This record gives sequence, C-alpha cells and structure tokens, in this order.
Amino acid sequence: MKTKFFTFLFLFILSVSSIYAQQKSYEGVESTYQNNNFHDVNTYSHKFKSKKPRNVILMIGDGMGVAQIYAGATANKGKLNLDNFKHVGFSRTHSANRYVTDSGAGGNAIATGYKTNNYSIGIDAEGNPVPSVMKIAQQNGLATGIVVTTSMLDATPANFAAHVEHRNMMPEIASQFVQSGVNVFIGGGIEHFKDREDQRNLLEELSHKGYQVYENIESIKTVKQGKLAGFLKESKVSKRGNQLEETTEVALNILDNHRKGFFLMVEASEIDGGGHENDMQFTVDEMLDFDKTIGKVLEFAEKDGRTLVIVTADHETGGLTITNGNMQTGEITGRFSTGGHTGVMVPVFAYGPGAEHFTGIDENTSFFSKIIKVLRLKR
Ligand code: MG
Ligand code: ZN
Repeated sequence: MKTKFFTFLFLFILSVSSIYAQQKSYEGVESTYQNNNFHDVNTYSHKFKSKKPRNVILMIGDGMGVAQIYAGATANKGKLNLDNFKHVGFSRTHSANRYVTDSGAGGNAIATGYKTNNYSIGIDAEGNPVPSVMKIAQQNGLATGIVVTTSMLDATPANFAAHVEHRNMMPEIASQFVQSGVNVFIGGGIEHFKDREDQRNLLEELSHKGYQVYENIESIKTVKQGKLAGFLKESKVSKRGNQLEETTEVALNILDNHRKGFFLMVEASEIDGGGHENDMQFTVDEMLDFDKTIGKVLEFAEKDGRTLVIVTADHETGGLTITNGNMQTGEITGRFSTGGHTGVMVPVFAYGPGAEHFTGIDENTSFFSKIIKVLRLKR
C-alpha cells in the first residue's frame, strides 16, 4: 500500500513538474481577441462555362498559414468564404538558399517558377532575370493587374513586374513598373514615383503612357476602363476600411473589358505584419479583410464562369498557435512563437475551371507552370 502511494506521489510530482517545465519553455505571450466585425459568407456554385479558364486571379495572403486562416474562421463564428474551395493542397516554401524564405524569394518562386535566394526579385539563383507569369500572360494578349494593401513596390508584387538583385531597390523597382505594361496597379509606394534622386517624375511618365494616375480611393473607384495607376496610403485594415475589396472590384471591372482574358494578382499584404508584430487582432483583422475580398472575387468568378481563382501564401509568419477559441462568440486565443517567418508548408485553394491542378503537395514554383498550362499560354 505504501509503495503504491509513493509511486502515485512520485508520478504526480513528475507530471506537475513537467507541465511547469513546458510552461517555462514557452515563448511569446498568449493573447485573446474578440472580433466584433462579422461578415456574411456566401455559397458559390461550381457550375462553370468551360473547362479552360479565360481569366486567372491569384490571391496571395502574405504570411498566411493554416493557423491564421483558422483564427479568422473562428473569429467569424466558424465561417469563411474560403470554405467554398473544393480543391485544396499545400505549397512548400523554402528558397534556393534558405530553409525559411522571405517574401522576395517566396514571391519570386510563385511569379517566375524559379527558386531564388532570399531578397531577390524576378531573378533566378544565378542572378539572371526571368519572366513572370504576368509578363507571359501579357505577351499572349491578356490584360494584367496588381492590387495590394502595402506598397506596390514591396517584394510580393514587385516579383510580377520587376527584376532586381535586392527587394530594397525601390526606386529601380518603380521605374521598372512604369515599363512593365501592367494595365492596372493599385497600392502604396508613390514616394518612389516622385521626388526621385534621378529627377525623373514617374507619375508624369505614367500619364504619358496613357495611365489614369490617381492618388485617392474615390477617384480610383470612378475608373471603369483603360490603364490605371492607383496610389493609396499604406495602413492597417482598421484605418483603410474596405479598401482591398473596393480596389479589387475596380481592377476586375477594368480587366473584364478584355475579351482575351486577364491575369490579376491580389495580395493581402499585411497578414504578415500581424505575424511580425505578434498581434492577434492585427492578424485576424487582416485575415478577415482578405476573406471578404475572396468573397467578392468568388462572386465575380461564379458569374463569369471562366475564371480560375487561386488562394495561397508565400510563407507563414509568426509561428502562430491557436490555443483556444469560441465559434459561437468569435473569441480567439493564440500565441506566436517567432517574430519572423517559419518554414511550414502553406495551404493552396483553387476554384473554377482548372482548379483540379492545384491539389496535393507541391513546390511554390509550380504555380507558374500550372497557370501557364491551364491558360494555354505560349512561352
Ligand atoms: Mg508581401
Ligand atoms: Zn514578412
């Protein structure tokens, strides 16, 4: 009897001390966020008008891993527009020289099909410029567009329009944007288009190239056709409101005039920011903003019937763990484990004709070749 008691006591002390030891080794602070900005989620039909898509909309949640998505789902009382996607896979995100990628190399792989070194933009690992899927779409007569919530010169969008050794070469990226021929681009970064060291005024150059150049959301929303360079301030969703949804709709309206089809890249740039700041509210708000925009895009794609929508991420940010949540109230508790990016696979979702190609586990370079294949583009 005594032995049993001491064995029990021993095991009890062991388990308590191991829990204590585990708690001691946790890093980061657990925080809870109560969402109070719930959005409606629709169900979209999967009846399409052709087997081959005419348009591709590639939506990138920068820093969006499975935990960010599930935090958003919980915060929206269990439902997201993302729930509509039936073709789901995973993307492996490592870069040419690092296990953990940055957004430079991550975007490079998605845009050009080449694994490259961290911080590189539009070049392979040897430094050679490589064409983006957007460029190839353009050469095949498709219209193109870029919509982001950060600077349009930031690493993710830059990979679709520029080729530079380092992502911080913003003035050079801006001048390459002017030459890119992209029909519509909306985002921040105006400071590198004017007041430049080389004295060039890229806003004037854009006007001469036939772009409608606007610097506020109200003017941008009036544009229905032609080329558009829309500049907006970079800010958190709490300050910019429905800007991503609205600017995405503007781009869709304009690009839909092109009978040969279009390629549009939409980036929810700041899910990454929430991860870097280890901020649950920031992360969830940006995630829900992205999901609302996904809803708008699905609405367009369902009606159009010839549009393939792909949603993915370049990497996960923050090492987010969900430790508790409540689907009835939208309360979500999580803990971040790093202030940087992580090496985990990120999810891939596809909807529309050609969606079946985007399942399984694949490298992040595969988006490039798959999009070219489903659109039947000539290289
Ligand atoms: Mg980005
Ligand atoms: Zn980041």
